[in-house]
Amino acid sequence: MKIKLSINYPSSELHIGNGILINKESDWLEVEETKEIKEAIEKGFLEYEGKLEKKEEKKEKSDKDEIWIFAEALHGKLARVVLELLGKGKELADSLNVKLSVILLTDKDNYSKELISYGADKVYILENPLLKNYDTNLFAKVITEAIKNYAPQIVLYGATHIGRDLAPRIARRLDTGLTADCTGLDITENNELLQTRPAFGGNLMAQILCKKRPQMSTVRPGVMQIIPQDKDKKGEIIKLEIKISESDLSTRLKESVKSAKKVINLEEAEIIVSGGRGLSSQENFHKLIPAFAKVLNAEIGSSRAAVDAGWIEKPHQVGQTGKTVRPKVYIACGISGAIQHRAGMQDSDLIIAINKDPSAPIFKIADYGFVADINEFIPAFIESLK
Ligand SMILES: Cc1cc2nc3c(=O)[nH]c(=O)nc-3n(C[C@H](O)[C@H](O)[C@H](O)COP(=O)(O)OP(=O)(O)OC[C@H]3O[C@@H](n4cnc5c(N)ncnc54)[C@H](O)[C@@H]3O)c2cc1C
Repeated sequence: MKIKLSINYPSSELHIGNGILINKESDWLEVEETKEIKEAIEKGFLEYEGKLEKKEEKKEKSDKDEIWIFAEALHGKLARVVLELLGKGKELADSLNVKLSVILLTDKDNYSKELISYGADKVYILENPLLKNYDTNLFAKVITEAIKNYAPQIVLYGATHIGRDLAPRIARRLDTGLTADCTGLDITENNELLQTRPAFGGNLMAQILCKKRPQMSTVRPGVMQIIPQDKDKKGEIIKLEIKISESDLSTRLKESVKSAKKVINLEEAEIIVSGGRGLSSQENFHKLIPAFAKVLNAEIGSSRAAVDAGWIEKPHQVGQTGKTVRPKVYIACGISGAIQHRAGMQDSDLIIAINKDPSAPIFKIADYGFVADINEFIPAFIESLK
């Protein structure tokens, strides 16, 4: 390799071993890469040409102090938020140099491979017919016991109906804290979990640390990003030895009936058509937005203004105090694009905005913008599809 004394070196000359003296007037010098030279380069005393051979041995990830994710599965499918948590969990585990694991409670393991392919190093599993359906008491018992046995430092749950029901009970049994509905997770300089969540109605973003262990959070679906699947990834499967019986069940499920009411699943929607105050009335909102959504096979979203006006129910609200969504296409109709609305949709793959005001902030983040009256645009669009 070729080296030269750095102009930043505080003295005019430097001994670099083997009797070689290099000074600021010296031209590039061809040398063998020795320990002394490498150290001088790393300290910034020497400039070099060529590649510095890195013999840094990669430290094996530790089995101790793992990060765990609760692998929620319902009706034969993993909740999407579990894959999102694996994406974030991997980033956290890499910065702590620990393993990323999931805990899976099921009657039949159809999920381990998928969990590993999305980033899990280990799957702790309890397979038992009693675990076919979610039961608060039974799931809380098994997970609490597993956490006591393996002592992970962090446990993450999706902020779903199940996650919100389960996590506080486990936190109480373990006498630890729980930060609910997080929108951000990070690792501090002291290797603690920094948990961010909106507070005071979304007016503040609170950053929370937990002094007890494990550190536990529920995380809002739709916020974290799923990492690409690697079907060749290998992982370890560990069978949990935890005894359960019928007496652990808090409820007996007799029948499962699908809700007659359409379930709003904005977080998993591929296309969302959202309406705002620009629709001007409840009647107009319901005349135009569902028809537009129907032709595109989309879910219906809304701004908070439309919810506050009583035009549509809160589960449709997108934004800081509503849902965080990341669809392939987000169509904002008569929505100005206030920062609190953008916080919930700005990571959508493609944003289309229709607004009669060309200076509306939504156009700043839109991939396609139509300056148009929504009352004319939607009927014309539907007509053109026919
Ligand atoms: C703490 C806090 C939390 C909040 N959380 C949220 C949240 O989660 N989600 C959220 O959405 N908001 C939230 N808000 C409210 C947010 O600040 C805005 O007030 C709200 O997003 C505005 O909704 P909008 O865009 O529908 O209405 P407006 O801001 O009134 O915009 C209506 C738009 O429609 C356009 N328009 C009018 N007529 C037509 C027409 N005929 N054709 C086409 N365009 C037309 C107008 O040009 C305008 O740009 C929050 C606010 C606070 C303080």
